[in-house]
Amino acid sequence: MHQFIDGRYREGRGDEAKRTNPVTGEPAEIIRYAASDDVDDAVAAATRAFGTWSRCTPAERSDALLALAAELGRRAEEIAAVETAQTGKAIRLATEFDVPGTIDNVSFFAGAARQLQGLAAGEYGAGGTSMIRREPIGVIGSIAPWNYPFQMAGWKILPAIAAGNTIVLKPSEVTPGTSLIFAEAATAAGIPDGVINIVTGTGAVAGEHLVRHPGVAMTSFTGSTAVGRKIMALASGRAKRVHLELGGKAPFVVFDDADLEAAAHGAVAGSIINGGQDCTAATRAYIQRPLFDAFTARVAELMDRVVLGDPTDDATDLGSLISHAHRDKVAGFVDRARAAGATVLAGGHAPGGHLAAGAYYRPTLVAGAAQDSEIVQEEVFGPVLTALPFDTDDEALTLANDTPYGLAASAWTNDLNRSLRASAEIQAGCVWINDHIPIVSEMPHGGYKASGFGKDMSAYSLEDYTNTKHVMLSRDKTPHKDWQNTIFRSTNMPASQP
Ligand code: NAD
Repeated sequence: MHQFIDGRYREGRGDEAKRTNPVTGEPAEIIRYAASDDVDDAVAAATRAFGTWSRCTPAERSDALLALAAELGRRAEEIAAVETAQTGKAIRLATEFDVPGTIDNVSFFAGAARQLQGLAAGEYGAGGTSMIRREPIGVIGSIAPWNYPFQMAGWKILPAIAAGNTIVLKPSEVTPGTSLIFAEAATAAGIPDGVINIVTGTGAVAGEHLVRHPGVAMTSFTGSTAVGRKIMALASGRAKRVHLELGGKAPFVVFDDADLEAAAHGAVAGSIINGGQDCTAATRAYIQRPLFDAFTARVAELMDRVVLGDPTDDATDLGSLISHAHRDKVAGFVDRARAAGATVLAGGHAPGGHLAAGAYYRPTLVAGAAQDSEIVQEEVFGPVLTALPFDTDDEALTLANDTPYGLAASAWTNDLNRSLRASAEIQAGCVWINDHIPIVSEMPHGGYKASGFGKDMSAYSLEDYTNTKHVMLSRDKTPHKDWQNTIFRSTNMPASQP
């Protein structure tokens, strides 16, 4: 069963869909999607739960989250196995990155729930004492993508419920498994029924209904920029708050003083992580001309060594992509770049032999594609890195900023001034210096430009899921306060006016 509503599993009332296993090409599970009625039931459950959950003390919510972290920790191996089965990603990534990172997030929000920030109460105006209240918003409707299903469930659910909201999460219809386990574990950990509800359904039916739903106070979305724009338009009908984490096209800038070997390793790991199906993945390498040939040769050599294989095997570096259709989309970008005159220095094809039936694609390095070509400008979302040379620092930073996106970026240099300039001038929500990919629960993740707005993880995300209220208590007991003289001078006025 693929719906978890009001603390229990149930069957969806919508259409039935058959999934294909991306690794074998064989039929996989059958999923009964949520219909609009299921979404209504989930929103009703979340609305009921809001009354009590929002009134819990921060310490009570924190204790519940700590119990959830322990429960997820007990089930870590099982969660990693389900994550790999539904996505085709290598088990090492699920075991060492996705699952522990998400559990750390749960622990972080258990602490952060007790640390809501605001200005100190005080007499900012002469006659009154002002204070800030941070209040939960209500029922949050969240929509998540398929690339990191467990992490995305955590990123959407945790700040929302830590702040006292309740949530209805629609995971991607192709990867609901670990979001369902997340909610089930929350119930086992004592989080009340209805606080976390999972509806598995399509974007067109369950997704749009959730965004439009009058009982949902805020929509938070992680996914493509195209769908994010649609969601923003749908939410505008009710002037609903939106929180959007959208696509990325991260530049990877290598200056001529960089440690070449470190940059080459960083480029391979940063571009092929999760099969390149990572919104922060390194996608556009710009290399200062003196290093260009050595860098591309070394990256190609390392890419050729990457081991593709059975994702459940610990020796596998890179599993399959999410589906055969997605693999074909990735291959299409590379084929068209090649046809337009670019050179493929590594990969550029699906592997044959025993992997031929799966949705695999070799790590790929493409040199010489034009800056304004689709492979440099658009999200490929596969293990594909483009490489272009630059001459001056000004040119590098201009190229780095030359896409509609602004989610993440890295600069490789040992020069302090260059690193400070790059971190200030690259328009992205995260800039790494001499690294690419690591994230920590304490720091925010979110975009600039067409990569969206709003932050995941960190205390900033907690703020995003609260309303800020100013409460002002008057200390002036006189019936006519001084400031009112600007509006009317009561003592000068006759008793009645025409
Ligand atoms: P997608 O936009 O196709 O789908 C994301 C979610 O939106 C899915 O649950 C889908 O069912 C739902 N959806 C689709 N149409 C909808 C509609 N009309 N109304 C409501 N919901 C709708 O994205 P995807 O292919 O699942 O994921 C890949 C994308 O996610 C990439 O663009 C990637 O960059 C982005 N992403 C961004 C971040 C980030 O933090 N910024 C993180 C992970 C992934």
